[in-house]
Amino acid sequence: MEINMHYDLSRVERQHLAISRETNSSALVVTRCACRKSTTSKQLVQHGKCVACQLADRVATLQPEDLEILRHMLGATDHHPRARWGFRNEYLCNRRDMPSMARLMAAGFVRSGRPLLFMWYFHATDAGGRLAGLSAKRAAVALGARP
Ligand SMILES: [Zn+2]
Repeated sequence: MEINMHYDLSRVERQHLAISRETNSSALVVTRCACRKSTTSKQLVQHGKCVACQLADRVATLQPEDLEILRHMLGATDHHPRARWGFRNEYLCNRRDMPSMARLMAAGFVRSGRPLLFMWYFHATDAGGRLAGLSAKRAAVALGARP
């Protein structure tokens, strides 16, 4: 009985190995997205487009005022030197701005924080920081890294 179980387990293991080998090799095949950028066939199979096109799709769901709020949230405006962008990362959202927050959240550029009375704090994600024009370093600072 024990021997049979051992046999079955190793057979399953072999199948998993074969599957992961297959997946890995197809992920490495470089092919082209409709935008003509090269990408992996895994990206194309899973998402139908390259990473840049996926990001462009997410940005396309936003309104201009959403981007303004995102930049304000991160202090990424002309009022502050660019090297300091991301020194803050919070926005207390009132009812009027909720549609903007919903779009930014659905696109993965902000996440909700804690409520305050009838309002709610929102914070930019790494993708949101980059979209607002922050460098990778300043986006990390906005997420809590030491400058
Ligand atoms: Zn593309």
